[in-house]
Amino acid sequence: MTALQKFKEIENKITQYNEALGVIYWDLRTGAPRSGMERRSEVIGTLSSEMFKLSTSDELGKVLTELESEDIFATLSDMDQRLVKEARVEYDRSVKIPAEEYKKYVILTSNSENKWEECKGNNDFDGFKPYLEQIIEMQQKFIDYWGVKETRYDTLLDQYEPGMTVAMLDEIFEQLKQKLVPLAQKIAEHQYKPETSFLKNEFDIAAQKEFSLYILKQMGFKFDAGRLDESVHPFATGLNPGDVRITTRYLKDDVTSALFGTIHEGGHAMYEQNIMKELIGTSLCTGTSMGIHESQSRFWENIIGRSRQFWNCNYEKLQTLFPQFKDISVDTFFRGNNVVNPQLIRIEADELTYNLHIIIRYEIEKMIFNEGLKVEDLPKVWNEKYEQYLGVKPQTYSEGVLQDVHWAGGAFGYFPSYSLGNMYAAQILNTLEQEMPDFWNKVEQGQLHEIRDWLIERIYKYGKMRKPNELILNITKEPLNPNYLSQYLTKKYTEIYKLNN
Ligand code: ZN
Repeated sequence: MTALQKFKEIENKITQYNEALGVIYWDLRTGAPRSGMERRSEVIGTLSSEMFKLSTSDELGKVLTELESEDIFATLSDMDQRLVKEARVEYDRSVKIPAEEYKKYVILTSNSENKWEECKGNNDFDGFKPYLEQIIEMQQKFIDYWGVKETRYDTLLDQYEPGMTVAMLDEIFEQLKQKLVPLAQKIAEHQYKPETSFLKNEFDIAAQKEFSLYILKQMGFKFDAGRLDESVHPFATGLNPGDVRITTRYLKDDVTSALFGTIHEGGHAMYEQNIMKELIGTSLCTGTSMGIHESQSRFWENIIGRSRQFWNCNYEKLQTLFPQFKDISVDTFFRGNNVVNPQLIRIEADELTYNLHIIIRYEIEKMIFNEGLKVEDLPKVWNEKYEQYLGVKPQTYSEGVLQDVHWAGGAFGYFPSYSLGNMYAAQILNTLEQEMPDFWNKVEQGQLHEIRDWLIERIYKYGKMRKPNELILNITKEPLNPNYLSQYLTKKYTEIYKLNN
């Protein structure tokens, strides 16, 4: 067996373990009985550590070194070269953490996510505190193992958005703040406010499901390669391109929450469903970064799903399913679904203030890892920042510092991906509008498949073959530029709030 064959065999086995774990996580979040969870955490621990052993094995290290030798590397295909480079990054990252510590960490985060759910329900920060402290302590150790980049937080950031740094983000977020804060103020002080009272009503859950599935179909979600289920916190999981599962949550008193959740996760899913088959069984068979992944979910959810053209196309269908709207015009419905409302909960935020929720989390995470902010002080800092940036103050932990699952799962450095996603999406839209001049017409005609196909050709099919900065440069001919997002938001909200009138 050649080194390349051996290498691919190991890679394939790792992705198989990963897929098995993916099914278990999906099962845990979509209704697995609570009593079995502790045992299930142990199963996760065992499978993860088997996978970990494989991905840190001397055997893998040996074949990697062999493939990296100049004479062999030069003979590899582009894909195999990229694969070797990616595997090297992951190998070095994993091999630095002792196996026992890794297993301990996986079990800890799995239990911690369950504990978080319970504590959030009971508004119990003290109950969750010891878990969070242990997770942060272990992450700090990992940073030491991996090596500190420019700052300690840079090391965490790089896992989710390769190439992104604190220095770059500080500047990008500063530019965003300078544009978005005055815009939000202008909207708050403006006399005209869209009507929203019609959104308060009761909405049949079965009809909501039907509408969600109808829209997924219009987008081009492949139902023979995916499914839609329910969970408390919507998510998408790509097991392999032929099996990509998403969830949503139906609320009886909110007609669009489940829909926009479905569209969002559907965007993630279509990325994973359309990765080229050649990458299956390799570590390149996934989205290239969390930021690019979020750019796709947000492109579909916000730019398309919350647009006037989308509702011009789909409002009649909604009215048929929900007769409550028969006397509400599509214009009223569109505006009512795009209200700017500074409030406490990130996942309920509008497109504009959402970015401020992220900037708050980014600043707090930097404080934890670069300045040693203590867990016991988190609620205080959290509340102060909410008051400062959004003018609102949480009254409970559940609507404040306990609202997100990310920290319970150890995903420090992840939050900036959401805003990066918004910025990438707006920049990609700008290119799309130039290359496809009838883009908005297509949205209005429900020809979303053609938009999906454009995204497949430029983004989806490559999986992790291209790095995020390469991909953006390749598609839009310039590096990440936050001005596209502020321009898009300014244009959109000037129309919705009639700011020029
Ligand atoms: Zn997402």
